[in-house]
Amino acid sequence: MLDSLFTWLLLPLGLVLGWVLGQRSQQAVSGTEATIPPEQLGGLLTQLASDDPDQAIAALTRVAEIDHSTVELHLTLGNLFRKRGEIDRALRIHEALLARPGLSEAIQAQVRREFAYDYLRAGVMDHAEEQFEKLAAGGHYVGEALDQIRIIYEQGRDWPHAIAAARRLEGAQGESRRALIAQYECEMADEARRAKNDGEALQHVRRALAEDSDCVRAYLHLGNLLEARGEFPAAAQAYLRAFQLDARFLPDVIEPLYRCSQKTNSGEGFLQFLSDAKEISSSSLPYVAEARLLADEGLDPLDRLAQGLEVRPSRAVLAQFLEVLEKQPGVIAAGLDKPAASLRLALRRLMESSPKYQCNNCGFSPRQQFWQCPSCKRWGSITPIDEAMRLPGA
Ligand SMILES: [Zn+2]
Repeated sequence: MLDSLFTWLLLPLGLVLGWVLGQRSQQAVSGTEATIPPEQLGGLLTQLASDDPDQAIAALTRVAEIDHSTVELHLTLGNLFRKRGEIDRALRIHEALLARPGLSEAIQAQVRREFAYDYLRAGVMDHAEEQFEKLAAGGHYVGEALDQIRIIYEQGRDWPHAIAAARRLEGAQGESRRALIAQYECEMADEARRAKNDGEALQHVRRALAEDSDCVRAYLHLGNLLEARGEFPAAAQAYLRAFQLDARFLPDVIEPLYRCSQKTNSGEGFLQFLSDAKEISSSSLPYVAEARLLADEGLDPLDRLAQGLEVRPSRAVLAQFLEVLEKQPGVIAAGLDKPAASLRLALRRLMESSPKYQCNNCGFSPRQQFWQCPSCKRWGSITPIDEAMRLPGA
């Protein structure tokens, strides 16, 4: 087998192609199915393409009859070129094949699909979209084609068109895309916010919530916009709703809720929230926040932090504990304040260099929030890491 394969690989390109096509003619005469093993065919085509790719393409386009085996040849060679990044050659093969008369509708759709992916790979998005539109219009690969159109608009950050594509996909597949559309609305809210157009941002956030009333991102955004407008009780409600929907977002809401409580003198409400958060979440942050409130009132927070260390050990609570400890007169008198400060600084540096978020789908761990995972491209899969869980041995 190896010897025969080696012989094949040494044959000139024209002879190999001639043999393949000869096999095809014999099959046509005898009426039998293709007998060329796919792995052997793949090897031959690789050899064809590496010997003289343009001659291979020219030979293929000269083939008078197009049947199942020659279509397979075209597709295999076209895909090979695309995988190798030789997009011009892949496009030439698929375009020439599409121009052939007499192709069945199913084969034509199969070739058009490859042609669309060639354009996608080449970064010619409008041509790729045109081919996917033709596929969808013809009723072939409809879900895949509409999804690719959606992704094209998503990558181009053309959110209105991405929303329209997501709705068409919904219609074609009967599967809700409202959570995704809410993310697109939030993207538009972000853009409006960056353009200092808070009114428009608010409209997009409200549309996001109309699409998906469980959208944590939209509630965080709503809280932020209302806080900027000085509507602190309403802002606090929005932040609270985000936490109720997903307690993992505690690190993202605890500081804004503290700020809102300061503005409205509702310390009691914030304390109640921290108490609830201790029940719902496994985070140590409520203890850190309680210690901060005690310090605000001029009380010693050391005991509260020690309690936090005992029940929810984490680097955040330990760093806060050390910060309070190093200022204790007894610690200073014993000369332990400097070692405590060194340890605290080391902990802070560790915390600053550690990832703060993680994708629940692929595990990607960035230091900042991304609403679409840069790695797996899923929307809404990245959440804050529960830092209490990250302390070794905790
Ligand atoms: Zn991911």
